[in-house]
Amino acid sequence: MKANSKVGTEAKPRSRYNELKQMLEERRRELQAQVQGKIRDVRSEGTWGGKQNEVLDAVESSDADIQDEIEFALISMKSETLNKVNDALARLEQGDYGDCFECGEEIGEKRLRALPFAVRCKDCEEARETAEKRERQIANRRGASSLFFDM
Ligand SMILES: [Zn+2]
Repeated sequence: MKANSKVGTEAKPRSRYNELKQMLEERRRELQAQVQGKIRDVRSEGTWGGKQNEVLDAVESSDADIQDEIEFALISMKSETLNKVNDALARLEQGDYGDCFECGEEIGEKRLRALPFAVRCKDCEEARETAEKRERQIANRRGASSLFFDM
């Protein structure tokens, strides 16, 4: 019926783009909420507990310090991830996101959902891992045999 109903092949990467964009934006929203929520938690605990801690003994306040440090580490980890998500979104806009670094094929959507910052497709990643393993084995064998032959 429609004149452009044959443009179906063009529509496919577009929907992949939308899916990936949605996936990344969801993740960004989640991370933003977590980072902001955590910062708010630490702040309110800080001002609230600050006055009380003056009376508490050193052990308890150092526990609170460790807690703060863990919170802080979590926040910086999450904001780092948030930066990566923003970076991925920028790359998606440029059309560079989601393609395999090695073979240029599209990385499966399922894989990207599990590993949003994957730069290789499953096949290339596995090939790389096997190659690395083999190299290590060869290096080990060489190391062992050199004990006997390099005299
Ligand atoms: Zn690949």
